[in-house]
Amino acid sequence: MNKNKKVYLDYNATTPVDPLVQKAMNPYFNKRFGNTMSLHYWGQEAKIALDESRQTIAKIIGAKSEEVIFTGSATESNNLAIKGVALANNPNDQKQIITTTIEHPSVIESMGWLKERGVEIAKVGVDSSGLVNSLEIEKAIKKETILVSIIHASNEIGVIQPIKEIGRLCRDRGVYFHIDATQTLGKLPIDVEEMNIDLLTASAHKIYGPKGVGLLFRRRGVKITPLLHGGGQEQKIRGGTVNTAGVVGFAKASEIAANLMEEENKRITQLRDELIGEVLKIKGAYLNGHPQKRIATNANFWFSFLEGESLAILLSLKGIAVSTGSACSSDKLQASPVLLAIGLNHSQAHGSLRVSLGRWTTREEINYFIKALIQSINQLRKTSPLK
Ligand code: PMP
Repeated sequence: MNKNKKVYLDYNATTPVDPLVQKAMNPYFNKRFGNTMSLHYWGQEAKIALDESRQTIAKIIGAKSEEVIFTGSATESNNLAIKGVALANNPNDQKQIITTTIEHPSVIESMGWLKERGVEIAKVGVDSSGLVNSLEIEKAIKKETILVSIIHASNEIGVIQPIKEIGRLCRDRGVYFHIDATQTLGKLPIDVEEMNIDLLTASAHKIYGPKGVGLLFRRRGVKITPLLHGGGQEQKIRGGTVNTAGVVGFAKASEIAANLMEEENKRITQLRDELIGEVLKIKGAYLNGHPQKRIATNANFWFSFLEGESLAILLSLKGIAVSTGSACSSDKLQASPVLLAIGLNHSQAHGSLRVSLGRWTTREEINYFIKALIQSINQLRKTSPLK
């Protein structure tokens, strides 16, 4: 195998900035560097860019411009949505929040923080394909429920949840509905009206935009307490000087992703399904998550008698980047809670690998990956103590 070959198959962890996004951002580092809160020319120039970016993204998700709040990451947006709603609603009463067993750590940890402060957290499970049953959500709703928070598509197994159905029932029951759309903005059509979404989280770096820029859509009228108090930016909901270059990049990235969505989904799904077909020919290889109801970019497998970390290291030596479990927690050698939630046992979860494709993935790269995977599996199984 070619020593200098590099194949990036970890697009669900992060993506490179699209050159067109970088070009759009460039003037905002030094030429148009103003503070959006300043009254002078430089400030107003930055403010116009901020307003236009807000409009661009709002249009893509069917929101009103003033309903989009820019933040520093999807982690921050999830914290703001969950803690913000909990702090602002039913101040003196018992409150309950419903979520699932397959959320991102930024949701799990926010829920844990609230639980320590007396909020009841109800976690609804998923079936073996990773799908949430909306009837389970409905059953969990009670008079104390203030919020339902659900990941739109899993960062680990890519499974897409029935958001429209859940949105409908939350609206009928008068409960706020938050989705973590970090893996879906620009990859799946989203309409906050049609889907009855009250709060939505997204992040630029998953869609070929810069790192360190997120957003929270907050439907007008949804009560939320700010977590960062400051100079009144972002309608007093998120203090701090706005990262204009980042926001401009986020808008450009969203625009490109929305325009390319259909064509890109078709091309990537085909490559991904070919990849799944080839991998499942390997003895003891299984697909994690629903075979069809998943975002185009995601494939996740478990391999019997193998340890995912060793496999990822061998692949890395061949220049291939993949991930075991969630990228955000891959430094910990704990079985992924998402994989355990779909019914895998610890050794199956530890034998899992996420392969995620993107805008620049080629068939040639997929072929190279499959060859390298088969070689690595054979090598590891020969010496595996797990057999
Ligand atoms: N939610 C999901 C579903 C994600 O995939 C990620 C990134 N791994 C996040 C939240 C956190 O995003 P950020 O890196 O912008 O904080």
